Amino acid sequence: MKISHLLQQHTPALSFEVFPPKTETGFESVKVATEEIAKLRPAFMSVTYGAGGGTSRYTLEIAKNIKEMYGVPTLAHLTCVSSTRETVREKIAQIREAGIQNVMALRGDIPKELEGADRSGWDYRYAVDLIAELKAACPDFCIGAACYPEIHPESENQREDIRRLKEKVDAGCDFLTTQMFFDNNLLYNFLYKIREAGITVPIVAGVMPITNANQVERAVKLSGSFMPQRFKSLVDKFGVSPAAMKQAGIAYATDQIIDLYANGITNVHVYSMNKPDVAAKIQANLSDILAL
Ligand code: FAD
Repeated sequence: MKISHLLQQHTPALSFEVFPPKTETGFESVKVATEEIAKLRPAFMSVTYGAGGGTSRYTLEIAKNIKEMYGVPTLAHLTCVSSTRETVREKIAQIREAGIQNVMALRGDIPKELEGADRSGWDYRYAVDLIAELKAACPDFCIGAACYPEIHPESENQREDIRRLKEKVDAGCDFLTTQMFFDNNLLYNFLYKIREAGITVPIVAGVMPITNANQVERAVKLSGSFMPQRFKSLVDKFGVSPAAMKQAGIAYATDQIIDLYANGITNVHVYSMNKPDVAAKIQANLSDILAL
């Protein structure tokens, strides 16, 4: 099932992101966690891909398992920046062999040791290179890409970032998933600007439930997301108690999602971080809304 078809519906839909294990020993527990999430029957599930090798070898195994065991459509992430053309072509062939038709085409983060290096000889410099290649080699695939309501950290300004985003869409991407954000108004502003720039593909809003205080610093560092005062107060007050923080983080994410649905965003992707209990609680909080 192509995700672009699922995104056409007009009623609220929820999907989840999981990540593959870092080592072989972690495989079994991640497999069980992702299966528990798949049993919730989300609209689809995405499986991330480690930029510099690492966890990337298990992406397809996890995605294939979810799809075959539970019939949940899967989206396999693929990054390109630290890979050769040969490796990427091999991965694309493996995705096809696994019967997966949905690919999230990403550049990936530049490895620390290559920051500032001359990129002119690289096989892939930006996600747009991978999107164009996928579109040409696999016209039957559904291709997703990333977008950044608060600007990608390397971009000079939002105008330039949106111009580059339009290039990805023009190269053949079928939908966009946003980086996490904690203030919905940032997304609504962004949507206005990208629609004005002529980007009309469906947007999937990415929401990260922050369920422990340690996650906050990491999330902000990774995404550069703005933390509204309401969210900061919640972490200040409840961060000391893991149970209370988890409850408050789930409530905050639920509230964010309800506001998104109420404002016409039909597709929300939860960065569920391999936590079936968090995914299940959010879904339960939205049960009547999702039944609309
Ligand atoms: P690009 O679209 O290539 O953009 C990167 C930067 O380059 C931007 O600043 C853009 O404006 C600029 N740019 C783009 N094209 C050009 C051009 N032609 N000339 C000059 N500048 C240009 N990382 C992983 O390692 N694995 C994952 O599974 C993963 N999944 C993700 C899922 C989502 C929804 C999101 C939002 C991010 C994900 N990431 C993942 C992180 C992502 O790899 C990083 O944010 C990375 O730094 C940028 O990837 P991109 O595909 O957005 O890059």
